[in-house]
Order: sequence, then structure tokens, then C-alpha cells
Amino acid sequence: MGPGPSGMAAVVNVLPFSSVLPRLLAVPLLMAGCGGKAPAPAAIPPEPPASLFVVAQAEDDDDWLDDEEDLDGDEGDGSSPVVLEPWMREASTKITAYTNGNTRAWDRLAMMSDRFGHRLSGSQALEDAIDWTVQTMAADGLSNARREKVMVPHWVRGKENLKVVGGRALTLLGLGMSVGTRGTLRAELVVAKDLEAIKDGTVDVKGKIVLIDQRMPPFDAEHSDSGYGRTVTGRTHGASEAAKKGAKAVLVASVTATSFDTPHTGALRYEDGVTKIPAAAVTLEGASHLVRLAAVGPVKLELRMDAKLLPDAASANAVAELRGREKPDEIVVIGGHIDSWDVGDGSSDDGAGCMMAMEAASMLQQLGLVPRRTIRVVLFTNEENGLRGAKAYFEAHGTETHVAAIEADSGSGPPQGMGIASEDQAVLRELSGWAPLFEGISASDIGKGWGGADISPLMDNGVLGISVRPDHSHYFDLHHSPADTIDKIDPSDLQRNAAAMALMAYLLAERE
Ligand SMILES: [Zn+2]
Repeated sequence: MGPGPSGMAAVVNVLPFSSVLPRLLAVPLLMAGCGGKAPAPAAIPPEPPASLFVVAQAEDDDDWLDDEEDLDGDEGDGSSPVVLEPWMREASTKITAYTNGNTRAWDRLAMMSDRFGHRLSGSQALEDAIDWTVQTMAADGLSNARREKVMVPHWVRGKENLKVVGGRALTLLGLGMSVGTRGTLRAELVVAKDLEAIKDGTVDVKGKIVLIDQRMPPFDAEHSDSGYGRTVTGRTHGASEAAKKGAKAVLVASVTATSFDTPHTGALRYEDGVTKIPAAAVTLEGASHLVRLAAVGPVKLELRMDAKLLPDAASANAVAELRGREKPDEIVVIGGHIDSWDVGDGSSDDGAGCMMAMEAASMLQQLGLVPRRTIRVVLFTNEENGLRGAKAYFEAHGTETHVAAIEADSGSGPPQGMGIASEDQAVLRELSGWAPLFEGISASDIGKGWGGADISPLMDNGVLGISVRPDHSHYFDLHHSPADTIDKIDPSDLQRNAAAMALMAYLLAERE
């Protein structure tokens, strides 16, 4: 085990090997990148398959920036300043002191990632990881730690490969929920520079395997914009749009701005009534290779994907509570999603968010910060390819009084702040007014933003949604790829993001 948590009680871990797990040194990401301020996780669709940062309303981005400037500046609009009461400052001080030098969230994430690996819906690893989180939360002393059953899609990848006939094999990763090829599919390659070129008929894809070479731009630090939302459309809609024009299969350039021949998966969305054709991601290097070959002559490809969809499988949301001392029936939800894609170990997406939520509830309890209202940890299942956990939670609990819901599903880069999914200026002003309380954990950039996919059913029904918003300038280097592993996460970043979640949850659960 690595450096022990300082200034806190001994950690109870329920897996025996945890005591000997070496703690890897977090390695800095290799890519030249941009510092950038907190993302406005550019609007996410309420439904998968695109789980994160999918821009539904690009024009909102500018609004967000404008709004935040208003909030940051003293515009003198006559509203009274936000008062930071002594109990707020005391909580901030305690949480900050607890956080510095503490690595418990990372130690636990490493344990989960190394023990169970990736956690695709339908896999035993996911169920084992859910059991472990429930046991760990119970051992932490949280109340009512339990599984809440959810039936989830069970998609399996199977073997897959791609080869240029007479040429080389390319790195391939099928898109989640894709159909298979039923044996080896041979067809000529055609390149479309983007989804539009297929839709408007600029390229003739009939009978061909079409490569959608839609590239994600470098991270825009000035606007904290990854460009993911604009780029991911090829992945989500490419198969159906190409099928409408008679294509046999689709390849997409991985949705990332950075690659070491790293393929990135993610769910696709088949349109009702349109033939389902296979779809897979190639790496940026592979896409460039194919584009160069196609520029000088006909290219024939061999594609094989054994992917299939099995009957739904039983899974669960992992739930536990820090029961409120005065108003236990009023709830602040904190959470992330426990499932991941079937590559890497899903540490950034979204083991980190789950550990933040578990850590947040546990640290509040250890610090004696038991608020008036209940803080409920919910580790949602099946965010990536179904959102069934989010839907099931809402069906089971939607009639309860939810004060707010905080989701962490943007990785665990250096903490920056929180996004508030509200149009209500009074709410935005109050919560952003709490920013000084978050300075000790470097998470004081609190402004208008998005909530999260798993809490979207709650938000759609009027619950205030909030996101933990770390620096995400490198998030998409890892996202949905074999590179999403624990060694990319810094222990201090993860602990401080957990602290930000804890403090925000406490303030919302404790205030009058
Ligand atoms: Zn996620």
C-alpha cells in the first residue's frame, strides 16, 4: 500500500490483497496539451450512446461563458452578496485538512481497477465490482448499502480484425452495440471526410466499407472545448446514415485528438427501420494509412467482427446513504457510473467518479459532518450502452424529494470546480458565491454547466443537477480506449475532486 492517508482513521478495505497493492506513481500524460479552465461539458444528450460532452446545443457554450463572466464579475446588479456562514467555513476547513496528503480514493480505485478490470454491462467483473462497492460502503459505516436490481443490455465484442487485402492488418475496436459481420466481409474502401459527405451523397458508399475520417480538433484551452460533441456524430450516427446509402460497413477515425495507435470505442445508435451494418473504430494512424492508400488507387478490405447482443443480464445500482439528521427524507444524490467499456480498466470513465462519491460520503461521516438531509451515493450501472441504471433509479426513487444530484463523469484531471445545470440566476449566484470555500482544494471555478447523463432523468424532472468538473484537456486521450487505466490518475487530483463533491453535497444538504 502506498503512503497511508494522513490525519484519518485506518482504512477498512474488504479485499485482502489491498494491503499489499503497490501504489503506482501517477505518470504525467505525455501529450503536449493545454491547461485550460474548467470545461463547460458542452451539453450532453440525456440518452446514451454518446455518454459525455456531446454538444446538443452549441450556442449554449457562449451563453455559459457570458453567464460565468457575469457571475465572476461584480456587476453591481443590486443583489446581496453571498454570505459564507461559520458552519460553511468550518466544513471547508475540515474537508480541506482531511484531503491534503490523503490518497484513499486512489488506493481504492487502484484496488478496484486491478482486481476487477473493465466492467462492461453483462460482465461478471461489473457485478463483482458492484458487490465490492456495496461491501466497502457498508464497512465504511454508511447506511442501507445495497444493490438495486437493474436489467442491462448484454453486448459482447467477440473477435474482430481488419486487414487491407494484400497489405497490413490495422488496429480495430468495434463500436459498442454494433452487429457482427457474420464471417469475413470483403469490400472496397471509400473515404468520406465526415458524416455530411455521406448524407449529402458527395461520396458513393454503395456496396463499400466507408471510412468516416471525421477528426477531433486539438483541445481548445481558451474555450475549454474538446470538440468531442461535434466529432462524435460520425461514431453515433455513421452506421445508419451509411446503411441508408447502401454501405456494407463503417469505420470511423477514433474520437480523440491524440493517439499512439490507440483505438477508442463508444456506443453507436442504430435508427429504427434502417439496416444494421457493422461499425468499428480505427486509430488515427490507421485512418491516415487508409486515406493515403485510397488516394492512389482502389483498396480492398477484409473486416471480421463477431459482435453480438445476448439477452438482457441482471445488474444493479450500488446505493448507500449518509442519513440526514433532521430531514432524512430529503436527498442529495452523489454518484458516477460503475460500468465501463470493455477496454482498459475504466479508471477515468468512470471508476474515478464512483470512488469520488464513495469517498465523499465516507469523509463527511468520518469528519462528523452529518448534514440535515440525506446524502445518497448512487453508482449507476449501464451508463455506456443503455442508461438503464439511471432510468431504474428514477423509476424507483423519482417521487422522493431530491434537493440536488451531483455526478462525476469527466475523469479526474486536476480539480477545477463544479458545473451547475441551472438557468436560475439566483441559484447560479448563490452556488458560485460559495467558491472561496473550495479554494483550498483548487476547485473554486463554480459556474453554469451541465449535470450528467445518469442524473438526467432527475434533472428532466426539475432536480438541480451539478457536475464535478476537473480539467478535461486530456480526458479524451484516454476515453473509451485501452489507455484508460489507473496509472493516468493522480492521487491528489482524485482526492481533491472527491473533496469538492463532498463539500458541495454537504453545503446543499445542510443549508436551511
Ligand atoms: Zn462515463
